[in-house]
Amino acid sequence: MRQKIVAGNWKMHKNAEETEDLLNELIDQLPHDVEAHIVVAPTFTNLASAVEHLEFTNIEVAAQNMHQSESGAYTGEISADMLRSIGVHLVILGHSERRAYFHETDSLLAYKVDTALKNYMKVIFCFGEELKDRQSGNHFNIVENQLRDGLFHIAKEAWANIILAYEPVWAIGTGETASPEQAQEMHLFIRETIRKSFGSDVAEDVSILYGGSVKPDNAREIFSQPDVDGGLIGGAALKAADFAAIVAAI
Ligand code: PGA
Repeated sequence: MRQKIVAGNWKMHKNAEETEDLLNELIDQLPHDVEAHIVVAPTFTNLASAVEHLEFTNIEVAAQNMHQSESGAYTGEISADMLRSIGVHLVILGHSERRAYFHETDSLLAYKVDTALKNYMKVIFCFGEELKDRQSGNHFNIVENQLRDGLFHIAKEAWANIILAYEPVWAIGTGETASPEQAQEMHLFIRETIRKSFGSDVAEDVSILYGGSVKPDNAREIFSQPDVDGGLIGGAALKAADFAAIVAAI
């Protein structure tokens, strides 16, 4: 049975004190009776304190990025080993903001995925089409290519460490959400694409999250789609009450 997951991507928000405040609010406000796995991804500087803070909770801490090399002369970068050494075992890779502003390509992401897996990290692999792709009807092709070029080189066994996050770029931070039908249509396509290359076991077991303007008032309808296994939440993850309501919607 695949896992339901709600992950909060805090992006470049919240300093040390604000991180601690939000974590405390989440501990107070998150529902305890949900079966979903809950993840928060604060910024690098607050990861170690977040791990410590959440030690006796069921909330997992993820990093928002990592470098593809094991170590070396890469000023300003963070390695998989560094993340693991502070107790972070999950990393978001391929977020559309990394692709757009930091020029992360599918081939670079393939490299990052390998490095993460080699270091026993789990990966939330993000992908999704831009508005122009959807308008031209090319969205299925784009998504399939992102998956094939960034992820499909991994071994069948490695899929146990992969979570997918379909995030149409036109829905991220825009207030515009894919309709539940659009999300379901794409999630089903993703699952079938995986089935063709890796078989039914992998396709049925992998969690596919939806991301892009998920809010308390639309979460329930999106999460109720059969192939949507949860969400990657940006803006609404920064307010404890909103994130708690989204978690409760799963
Ligand atoms: P959003 O961001 O919920 O603010 O649209 C989602 C994401 O970037 O992961």
